[in-house]
Amino acid sequence: MDRAASLTQTVPGLWQFGRYFWPIIRPQWPLLAVSTLALLADVGLRVLEPWPMKVIFDYVLVPARGDSSARLAPLGAWDPALLLTGAVVAMVALTGLRAVATYWNTVSLAIASSRVMTQVRNQLYRHLQRLSLGYHTRARSGDLIVRVSGDASRLQEVLITAALPLVSSLLTLVGMVVVMIWLDWRLALLSTVTFPLFWLAATRFSQRIRSASLQQRKREGAVAATAAESLAAIKLVQALSLENAFADTFAKQNQRSLSDVVETKRLAAHLERTVDVVIALGTALVLWAGAQLVIRDALTPGDVLVFLSYLKNAFKPVQNFAKYTGRLAKAAASGERILNVMETQPEVRDRPTARPAPILAGALRLEDLWFAYEPGHPVLKGLNLSVQPGQQVAIVGPSGSGKSTLMSLLLRLYDPTAGRVRIDGQDIRDFTLDSLRPQISVVLQESLLFAASIRENIAYGVAGVSQAEIEAAARLANAHDFIAALPQGYDTPVGERGTTLSGGQRQRIAIARAAIRQTPILILDEPTTGLDRASEQAVVDALRQLAQGRTTFLITHDLSLVPQVDHVLYLEQGRVIEQGTHGELLAQNGPYAALFRLRSALREEPSVVSR
Ligand code: ADP
Repeated sequence: MDRAASLTQTVPGLWQFGRYFWPIIRPQWPLLAVSTLALLADVGLRVLEPWPMKVIFDYVLVPARGDSSARLAPLGAWDPALLLTGAVVAMVALTGLRAVATYWNTVSLAIASSRVMTQVRNQLYRHLQRLSLGYHTRARSGDLIVRVSGDASRLQEVLITAALPLVSSLLTLVGMVVVMIWLDWRLALLSTVTFPLFWLAATRFSQRIRSASLQQRKREGAVAATAAESLAAIKLVQALSLENAFADTFAKQNQRSLSDVVETKRLAAHLERTVDVVIALGTALVLWAGAQLVIRDALTPGDVLVFLSYLKNAFKPVQNFAKYTGRLAKAAASGERILNVMETQPEVRDRPTARPAPILAGALRLEDLWFAYEPGHPVLKGLNLSVQPGQQVAIVGPSGSGKSTLMSLLLRLYDPTAGRVRIDGQDIRDFTLDSLRPQISVVLQESLLFAASIRENIAYGVAGVSQAEIEAAARLANAHDFIAALPQGYDTPVGERGTTLSGGQRQRIAIARAAIRQTPILILDEPTTGLDRASEQAVVDALRQLAQGRTTFLITHDLSLVPQVDHVLYLEQGRVIEQGTHGELLAQNGPYAALFRLRSALREEPSVVSR
């Protein structure tokens, strides 16, 4: 990710980022205007800094030859004592004003950029959540988290610590060159003789410093990885007596990382000292030529002083050039990572003609439905099905036959490769996602509870529900009694670091969550798997209540739930092998009947399973 980009690659990258987020940046214009004005004031004041010294030199210390140049000639008529006081006061005032300007420059930029980055981060997060499951399956979640938190902050930080000083140094340099030309173009030309030297030193060393520090970071990563790996598997390491082997690897990597650190420091020191020598060279040249011009009365001593001070101050920031450009390159990489996510379109998104779904009745049809996660490997192969509103359908079949995939298509987590899903006669892609998904509720095998109270977990995402409604949903889910028995009742925190509930209890909270939504369509994906018999009964009763009057899809391995449903779909390798009522399929004596008999036998003799 840290490509050693040069400024020519960095600037366009950052520019692109700015253009993409321009709608967020634009409203911050008052702050940005303040910051720019303060920056210009800062540059102006820096250019003026040596001038009080010049006044003291030319009009107080050596007034005899002071007014040979006509630039500040009127000052020659002033009382030297007054001039001295004025110049000294001006010196302090210039520094004071510069402090104020720098302060406002940094602070207003910091506020503006914080606001922008907060919004960038919000947009990024929102966008990430909307990206299809397909994207999230491919991406590493840790990497995405870094993009949301790390990359956004890094961009902001770099703006303040690198872009700002870089721009300000460049502007100061330009200002100083202009003033030098105005004072004496010959001497100005002589001062700029050293420019190419500066440039050469800066660019050459910058490149090397950047690649050395990149190498250093890579090595540090390797050191950390070795440590993390061995510590994570410490049991294995100790059991196999691998401590020494790991310690050797670690020591070697550590040593290499140390040499890289030294190399980076050495290069940085080299650059700094080279810049010092180049400055000395420039100073010597200017002093030599300047003194001659002063003797010939073409310049004043004060002018030479101004030149010398500019030379010293204008080129110091060059020493930090490597640091700034390195940081900018990293920021450009961060910007690129953020843009990458923002420019990824969700695969499942609203069609331009999509309209909000009306309140659905729940009639569902699958028409020659095909789906493949990867092109050429279909997981669902031409499914057809017709379900009346309120009907209950069991989907059974071996693992990997495509049951969960089918449910994902109903929820439009993915779109079909061919064919369609219709609800109430309409292709579900004609509905907006925001109006379709809230009409389908889901109970999964292991229900995830958020780190919040039970009440919030039940009512999550449903606006304006009353306590009575929450309780009614919990009663329907056979959950009210156990919730009421908890010391904090509905306010009990659950989820991460909250009260630990049993699997059956969590499942019943999830059922209450589905119940409160009052959706016409219900998807139950292995809702009883992994529960013990006692909890299972409570969950099954709750599910039965919940499914009343709703078009329900039940994916299950537990075939004892199946006889009560209206329709059974038996899938194998993405195809419907059999369908009909439970009775019809038993009579057909096909694969479903065989599976049902096997499961019933196992269920009646649980010891067979456990043995
Ligand atoms: P079931 O629910 O019947 O066990 P699934 O619908 O989970 O079956 O899986 C059907 C097939 O699709 C399996 O072969 C599985 O490996 C594959 N599959 C499931 N999810 C993905 C995915 N995100 N990417 C690629 N293949 C997948």
